Amino acid sequence: MQPSLQRKKAQILWTVAGFDPSSGAGVTADLMTFAAHGAFGCSAITALTVQNTLGVYGTQPVDTGILQATLDRLAEDLPPAGVKIGMLGGVEAAATVAAFLRTRRDHRRVVVLDPVLRSSSGRELYPEAGLDVLRHELLPEVDWITPNHAELAVLTGHPVRDLDEAETAGRRLTETYPGLNLVVTGGDLETQPTDLVLLRDGRRLLFQGQHVDTTSTHGTGCAFSSTLLCRLVAGFDPTEAVAQAKHFVEGALRKAPGLGAGRGPMELLWPLLDPDLQSEI
Ligand code: PLP
Repeated sequence: MQPSLQRKKAQILWTVAGFDPSSGAGVTADLMTFAAHGAFGCSAITALTVQNTLGVYGTQPVDTGILQATLDRLAEDLPPAGVKIGMLGGVEAAATVAAFLRTRRDHRRVVVLDPVLRSSSGRELYPEAGLDVLRHELLPEVDWITPNHAELAVLTGHPVRDLDEAETAGRRLTETYPGLNLVVTGGDLETQPTDLVLLRDGRRLLFQGQHVDTTSTHGTGCAFSSTLLCRLVAGFDPTEAVAQAKHFVEGALRKAPGLGAGRGPMELLWPLLDPDLQSEI
């Protein structure tokens, strides 16, 4: 059998996120997404979670000394071309990651933040009391942020119930952080998911998606932000990178393996399962 994975050039990408033992979200999903795009993934785990497809039952932050040491040791040996930040799980982790990025600014490196505040099943994954650390310490260090409507509303304190309100709230964010590119993902509210993109060069774009009828939607935000990072680091224009991230998640939803009794995992390795699909990513 011919191997279907051929790495052209191994770019190192990091995911700084939580661990989901059911493999639908968090670092495991991010690493699968990186692998599907031919990148080499490293991870720094911010928190453990207890969860399956039915929900999140517990969370435990990783000691910040371990997190700090992981970031430092990876940086000296496996420096990243890009970093994706997902679930932080606590204020201490957010402050540690923000300080790490601040002291190691590298303008060739892309940083994408998926501001994970709550699981889709409703469990708090980042405390509201820590929002100011996200806003004032972490946001100035990132290039891209990919909130869904609910996350954008919490971050900005603005209601976000439709695209118009998403744009008002989004502009508030990009005016406060002029270096930031924003993708507001629309999959959580609409039957025809539309993503709103506000780029730091002033461009505003709408991306109309295809609704996929499935319950296997666990980790869609993780996969979207990880793919976006992969495509940006691969040199694609921001608009093409967003379009490809949407395409990747739609494919992963369509090919979901149908596991678990709740919100199941997607098929994040879909481009590797059929060599003919390599050309699709
Ligand atoms: N668990 C971890 C470790 C995560 O990183 C995330 C999302 O990023 C979730 C759970 C939530 O995933 P979902 O929004 O699909 O519930």
